[in-house]
Amino acid sequence: MGIFDELARKDHEQIVFCQDEVTGLKAIIAIHDTTLGPALGGARMWQYADEEDAVRDVLRLSRGMTYKSAAAGLNLGGGKAVILGDAKSLKSEMLFRVYGRFVQGLGGRYITAEDVNTTVRDMEWVRMETDHVVGLDRALGGSGDPSPVTALGTYEGIKASLKWTTGNESLAGRTVAVQGVGAVGFHLVGHLRRGGARVHVSDIDADHLVRAVQAYPGIEVVPANEIYGVPCDVFAPCALGAIINDDTVPQLRTSIVCGSANNILAEEDRHCQALADKGILYAPDYVVNAGGLINVANELEGYNQDRALKQAQGIHDITTQIFRLAREERIPTIKAANALAERRIAAVGRIKDTFTGTAARGRRS
Ligand code: NAD
Repeated sequence: MGIFDELARKDHEQIVFCQDEVTGLKAIIAIHDTTLGPALGGARMWQYADEEDAVRDVLRLSRGMTYKSAAAGLNLGGGKAVILGDAKSLKSEMLFRVYGRFVQGLGGRYITAEDVNTTVRDMEWVRMETDHVVGLDRALGGSGDPSPVTALGTYEGIKASLKWTTGNESLAGRTVAVQGVGAVGFHLVGHLRRGGARVHVSDIDADHLVRAVQAYPGIEVVPANEIYGVPCDVFAPCALGAIINDDTVPQLRTSIVCGSANNILAEEDRHCQALADKGILYAPDYVVNAGGLINVANELEGYNQDRALKQAQGIHDITTQIFRLAREERIPTIKAANALAERRIAAVGRIKDTFTGTAARGRRS
């Protein structure tokens, strides 16, 4: 792998390799684009097959963060870190403090947070060495659990999708199938029920199903492999990625796919088109699940949940803008989301260049 070729291919700015023999830290920080602001993204701990695999993943994830922040209207760029190794055996206070020192060394170009296999507690250690960390506990002035804000944003995406397809965003009398009633799915079901929807849920964790049924009487549980075929107005995937694929598209009996899961489409362009061919509207996942990012980004100005919830409501309007762009330009909705993000970055880059003379970096797209 030619590292510079890899960076150039998707226009990444910087990659930082961090190593400390004593703690066993091997981390890679990727900064994709800082036109809009400092690159924010979590630090994932993962046992990669090899180092190339880790580089590829961190480049892909950091670029995803650029698009997510830009589409959400945040003044943040895209970044991500991966810490290579087994979270169970490798974690220690000193490892995270060393990682924090590397983050501090970037002088605020990258802001870290928790991600897969890292926790709020790990970030407390990181915070001992750097100012550039978010995703801390509420008791420490942090933003705490992001899932209520993510669920609200997804709910707003659902309402915008209903409004777009039917002219009426009310959930009253609608049917929604929710795959996964974990942290986000649970709160989403609450919004849907309060809105008057009939709700079908599936989960592979019996305790999560029991919790949901007890909290929201009247919801209907369906077996995990039957959720795709439930006749409904909205299918809301809130569990795993890649669940819109060649097997599931033919089973769907919905008009809308809108859920919180990341990377819902197995193949972005092809499966977005497959949904469109069936007359199903796809609300881009990284747009409607941006509530979690909005929540954590709020820490930068002093956390205020009311403000985070208010900002997450803006996902309604952003989702509608994307549908409009998709219709005007006759492109799949996922492409419209990407275009919206790229155009915002280009426009902000231009005003920074033109009106302040600061070293904002224009994009080529
Ligand atoms: P979670 O782990 O709390 O919940 C996921 C749920 O899905 C669990 O209850 C799990 O048992 C269930 N599940 C797993 N496989 C399943 C299957 N095959 N069928 C049905 N259910 C299944 O995770 P979460 O925090 O609620 O996140 C849900 C999704 O949203 C994930 O894809 C996550 O990446 C994404 N997301 C979450 C946030 C957030 O704020 N938590 C933000 C953005 C995106």
